[in-house]
Amino acid sequence: MFVNVDSVHDSADFPEQVDVVVIGGGIVGTTTAYELACRGVSVALLEKGLIGCEQSSRNWGWVRQQNRDMFELPLAMHSLNRWEALSKEIGRDVGFRRSGIVYTTDNPESLAKWEAWGEKARAHGFVSHVLTAEQAHERAPGTTSRWLGGIFSPTDGHAEPAMACPAIAHGARERGAHVHQNCAVRGLEIAGGRVTGVWTERGLIRTSSVVCAGGAWSSRFCRRHGVELPAANIMGTTVQTTSGDQVTPGCLTTPKIALRRRLDGGYTLAMPGLGRVEISPQGLRYATKFYGAYRSKLAKKLQVRIGRSFFRGPEAAGSWQFDQISPFEQQRILDPMPDMAQACAALAGLHAEYPSLRGVHIARAWGGMIDTTPDMVPIISPVEAVPGLVIASGFSGHGFGIGPAAGQLTADIVTGATPVVDPTPYRLDRFARGSRIRQPEMM
Ligand SMILES: Cc1cc2nc3c(=O)[nH]c(=O)nc-3n(C[C@H](O)[C@H](O)[C@H](O)COP(=O)(O)OP(=O)(O)OC[C@H]3O[C@@H](n4cnc5c(N)ncnc54)[C@H](O)[C@@H]3O)c2cc1C
Repeated sequence: MFVNVDSVHDSADFPEQVDVVVIGGGIVGTTTAYELACRGVSVALLEKGLIGCEQSSRNWGWVRQQNRDMFELPLAMHSLNRWEALSKEIGRDVGFRRSGIVYTTDNPESLAKWEAWGEKARAHGFVSHVLTAEQAHERAPGTTSRWLGGIFSPTDGHAEPAMACPAIAHGARERGAHVHQNCAVRGLEIAGGRVTGVWTERGLIRTSSVVCAGGAWSSRFCRRHGVELPAANIMGTTVQTTSGDQVTPGCLTTPKIALRRRLDGGYTLAMPGLGRVEISPQGLRYATKFYGAYRSKLAKKLQVRIGRSFFRGPEAAGSWQFDQISPFEQQRILDPMPDMAQACAALAGLHAEYPSLRGVHIARAWGGMIDTTPDMVPIISPVEAVPGLVIASGFSGHGFGIGPAAGQLTADIVTGATPVVDPTPYRLDRFARGSRIRQPEMM
């Protein structure tokens, strides 16, 4: 375990019955439980490992609207407002700072694309500024690179992944949610064709509503109940550096590196777009649905290899009984090994780009699985074949930023409230057999 995540206390009593069970204590599950608890709904948040210890603490911490898929932009914009409010509401710092995001480039095509994207985004009320070369260097001074220009989104921000989920789970518990860690949900109890409960490793909880927010594990969980959730897990490597001079107050992507200034004075650093996919039964099952995504530019920097995922973990095959230890308990925390060659290359890129940071070293490096859908837009949707089940998963590398709004939308779906944004683009049935799958648009 290479990420230090704030700890969370469990609730004292384990419930026998609740209105809603939320599976998974990442940003999506914790914010869903929080929103439900705020509405007076009785809710249990069940996490197989520890709150926030998978993707939601392993990400870069960017909270961005810039360059999002237009289908996702309304959710991203709403999420920024939720992030802004959360620390105050909960009385604990989630680490959110609205310090803007800068992208720089030496490629005229990228500049043209960003400009075109900005035009479309303006229709949604989102404003970013295309930067000249001089303005780009002013926004991120001290670089050795000669950029052609960039883009700056002043209303974007960042938050601290290691603080956010624990703080939100704490807020949910204070508002009456039952929070239990080391408590895997093994499966659904279904009677009369609809959800009537969940089987956990501590026994049955009766409920009529279940939210599956299991991140990289959701697809395997759903498949056990005959629900197809096309997803592929991509492993990314991230570095935490020791502290150093401030070259950006927020988030910056250059052609070589992506970095975020951390509250502790170091940087969260990575090489943009790089990732690794392992061949697995789940990957083979959904290969045709991902054909377009893998052919697209987005996948050009992916390495493909055979590894343990074929036999073990979220993408493996095999069923289980609900009175037996399930795959979820066998791996309490998904902790893939980082690619240290990539981590070192990211540090070298930082040193080359910013000579003032040559004294900065790697404090930690970690791997994280990114659960991705074929069009790289999340699934936030009821499951028609299993009334009572709602999926909130497949956040495709953007879920930390849009998590708070996703939690709110999920709570709206569960309670039948007017949805905070139009949920149509997030429906599961867009991947049904025979449907044409849209190409990923996110940059
Ligand atoms: C390297 C990397 C960089 C990223 N950078 C960014 C970024 O800068 N900005 C951004 O917006 N997003 C980023 N992301 C994506 C973001 O982290 C995810 O989209 C988001 O955290 C997903 O949240 P989640 O709650 O859906 O899943 P997770 O955080 O993975 O949480 C799911 C939880 O469910 C639990 N669980 C699963 N199955 C069960 C079960 N059966 N019973 C009980 N518990 C279960 C798991 O243990 C896990 O804790 C990045 C991701 C990675 C890996």
